Amino acid sequence: MKYDKLSSVADEFINHEEILSTLEWVEANKENKALIESIITKAEKCEGIDHREAALLLACTDKELIEKMFSLARRIKQKFYGNRIVMFAPLYLSNHCINGCVYCPYHAKNRSIPRKKLTQEEIAAEVIALEAMGHKRLALEAGEHPTMNPIEYILESIKTIYSIKEGKGAIRRVNVNIAATTVENYRKLKEAGIGTYILFQETYHRADYEALHPTGPKSDYAYHTEAMDRAMQGGIDDVGIGVLFGLERYMYDFIGLLMHAEHLEAKYGCGPHTISVPRICPADDINPDEFANVISDEIFEHIVAVLRIAVPYTGMIVSTRESAKVRAKVLQLGVSQISGGSRTSVGGYTHEERDEETTQFDVSDRRSLDEIVGWLLDLGYIPSFCTACYREGRTGDRFMSLLKRGQIANCCQPNALMTLKEYAEDYASPAVKTKIETLIAKEINNVPNIKIRERAVENLKQIALGNRDFRF
Ligand code: SF4
Ligand code: SF4
Repeated sequence: MKYDKLSSVADEFINHEEILSTLEWVEANKENKALIESIITKAEKCEGIDHREAALLLACTDKELIEKMFSLARRIKQKFYGNRIVMFAPLYLSNHCINGCVYCPYHAKNRSIPRKKLTQEEIAAEVIALEAMGHKRLALEAGEHPTMNPIEYILESIKTIYSIKEGKGAIRRVNVNIAATTVENYRKLKEAGIGTYILFQETYHRADYEALHPTGPKSDYAYHTEAMDRAMQGGIDDVGIGVLFGLERYMYDFIGLLMHAEHLEAKYGCGPHTISVPRICPADDINPDEFANVISDEIFEHIVAVLRIAVPYTGMIVSTRESAKVRAKVLQLGVSQISGGSRTSVGGYTHEERDEETTQFDVSDRRSLDEIVGWLLDLGYIPSFCTACYREGRTGDRFMSLLKRGQIANCCQPNALMTLKEYAEDYASPAVKTKIETLIAKEINNVPNIKIRERAVENLKQIALGNRDFRF
């Protein structure tokens, strides 16, 4: 197989030989300080670096150079994302699954967990609970099951979610994380008004992928790896990729992840909207110690920093799998979205006990959304409940071009402050509300465009009067 990032064939755009050759090149150059310095200098232009260059930065063990990378990652983060952090929550619809993924407790052969699929009434109750916390953005999750969770069920569920308006609450953006599917089904998801389509590759190493997915449709490596191409062909231009770090040697997967981003950018003119960085963690029937490649916090932080440098325009997501300590560190280095108050089980927002029984993975950060918002404010961040872009048609390359021209801050900053103001008015505890008011008074001055700033000030007054859903 030859390496061709414009190919639609999985083994050509994620090319095993190219990854091996990159690893060899990295091994030969990892002590070459001058070369590493030159890549860091190149990356300072904030236009990204390729998978070879990024792999070399990740392989570097020189403390001084790593600190340079961390410092650059922090600057890039500040330049494109400021101190805003977008908030979301996962919503699990069903844990019925016909796949055999060995790292996931929902795998078909696990008889020790109760199987549960939410009815539309139960989904409505979960959404009411999420809206009552203040969430506006969800990531919908479901196992793969042709009869229990067909596409019609997913589409109906999306409709239900968008229809629920509890008090002043509303879910304004539903991102969807379901199994690889057909172009036709992706088109249906697009028509249903989804935000981002998210699918994790788990590992890009074909042989290991096949060993980790011994049964079920997900065992088809090429079909899974080419899913984002079909999603793009189905009209979904915001896609989210990720690997489950700890399944394969992290360096191999890191290179594969960037090759995937390069492929999407080269072929469709738009790289991934987001990259998620989950790490394998404990769950029912899953012991992470059985996975030989589990990565340390230090390597995890290094990965986040180099990703920030390599793909400055791609949002980065970290979940409640990570502890508060690790989340605080990676927020500085590049993460731009986090979940808060999450339940990683089917029905977990309305039935606490279900969270114990059917959770997909153990949550390390168990704080409430209000606690996380307060914590982010204390760390100097602006928690944002913004969902504006896809509702304003700013998706795919249109979104990317605004971001690349540095224009997006004129949308993100006021939208963050206005949605945070809504949160303060409708959901925050008194202590958090006071912190938000102080922050807004200061941060409103950081909206670059004067006219937009003036309109945002007026909108903030309107929000205090009870009006909602202003956006730029
Ligand atoms: Fe099913 Fe997804 Fe779990 Fe695999 S990772 S067993 S596809 S729910
Ligand atoms: Fe995200 Fe767009 Fe809102 Fe900025 S304006 S936070 S890019 S949805």
